[in-house]
Amino acid sequence: MAFEGLTEKLSSAFKKLRNKGRLTESDVKEAMREIRLALLEADVSYKVVKDFIKAVTEKAVGTEVLESLTPAQAIVKIVNQELVSLMGGGSAKITIASQPPTVVMMVGLQGAGKTTNAAKLAGLMRKQNGKRPLLAACDIYRPAAIQQLEVVGKQLDIPVFQMGQENPVTIAEAAIAHAKKHGNDMVFLDTAGRLHVDEALMEELQAIKQAVQPSEILLVVDAMIGQDAVNAAKAFDDALDIDGVVLTKLDGDARGGAALSIKAVTGKPIKFVGMGEKLDNIEVFHPDRMASRILGMGDVLTLIEKAEQQFDMQKAQELAEKLKKNRFTLQDYYDQLVQVKGMGSMDELLGMMPGLNAKALEGATINEKALSRTEAIILSMTPQERENPAILNSSRKKRIAAGCGLQVVDVNRLLKEFGMMQQMTKQMTKLSGKRRKGKFGK
Ligand code: GDP
Repeated sequence: MAFEGLTEKLSSAFKKLRNKGRLTESDVKEAMREIRLALLEADVSYKVVKDFIKAVTEKAVGTEVLESLTPAQAIVKIVNQELVSLMGGGSAKITIASQPPTVVMMVGLQGAGKTTNAAKLAGLMRKQNGKRPLLAACDIYRPAAIQQLEVVGKQLDIPVFQMGQENPVTIAEAAIAHAKKHGNDMVFLDTAGRLHVDEALMEELQAIKQAVQPSEILLVVDAMIGQDAVNAAKAFDDALDIDGVVLTKLDGDARGGAALSIKAVTGKPIKFVGMGEKLDNIEVFHPDRMASRILGMGDVLTLIEKAEQQFDMQKAQELAEKLKKNRFTLQDYYDQLVQVKGMGSMDELLGMMPGLNAKALEGATINEKALSRTEAIILSMTPQERENPAILNSSRKKRIAAGCGLQVVDVNRLLKEFGMMQQMTKQMTKLSGKRRKGKFGK
């Protein structure tokens, strides 16, 4: 989970403040010392931390804050605002060329995630903006780079342009010509990377930039390498004047230093974040939502967006009706499970819930296992059994357990849970019915 270490330490600093009630300047100083340490441990660059603490302290020691009724809350608010502005304020978009195709050049060190994220981004632009992207294989050095791009392109059903080991500038130019001819309004150039920043690589990238004048140069950096990612960003920006950053592997980054330092150090915004290996694990970067996640206040907006994308609203209405009439079946239960799973891993979803810290997430993986088990059991049932679990006698249960590789007790447990849920909805419907009729004095 992203940022769990930082979130935990910041929460503990704020908790101490809250416990104090009235605050003095020295309480604030002590809290700032803890926040400073937390940020340094998160691998945020030293100068960024220094400026951040200075800005927060100046605002926090104002009489207005210290004398407010909830000074600790006022300080959390200031930290939140400063985190948002540290990460760039608003979210930044890709520049779309006035004459198609829009050419996006993906650059970065080897292994940062260029190839994967070129495809992810092409998929996102198709889904959100109705674009018709083309992927172009300009990495002619790494064995299998072209094949890798073809594999991800195929998975997303996005065309891939390649010319084998031809000169990368020639490939880029030919890809753009190909896009014009075939009606592709966006071209993503997957360029070569090296293990370290080196001159030959920068010269090659500069030559491509010169030749095709891309609308956007996006630097792909791996969040897990912390300050090294920030240094790489600086080097690439000096050589190529990049337009923005795609920060990948945030799902595995417990510290968060890169996310917090890149904008301040390079002046260039993070535009997208990679949150997992799957090809739809990419999100537009919203500094305000990220600040909220870092402070353990969740990210309800992203959660709602995910739900809206994933859930069929018409179906949700039907389900609500079924629940009311107490006709919610195991098939409905299964459909719900599949939709929830489609929203992302439990770990990721819980991380967006307000008030949940890393400790609360420890059991999350187990729950995910339980979900898969439930899914497997329901899948082993016949449609008739899913509609009417009452017909499940012991021989049917045995068959179901054998079908999904589990035990009869597992089947029984699921049925018990389902039964309890039905009971609960029955009671809730009754209660809400009574309330509507004014029996509770409302
Ligand atoms: P390239 O050398 O820059 O083209 O990097 P690749 O696209 O080949 O990615 C390197 C590895 O990182 C691959 O195994 C990807 O699946 C993985 N990867 C890329 N983005 C993410 C991400 O957001 N999260 C995780 N966990 N893995 C990622």
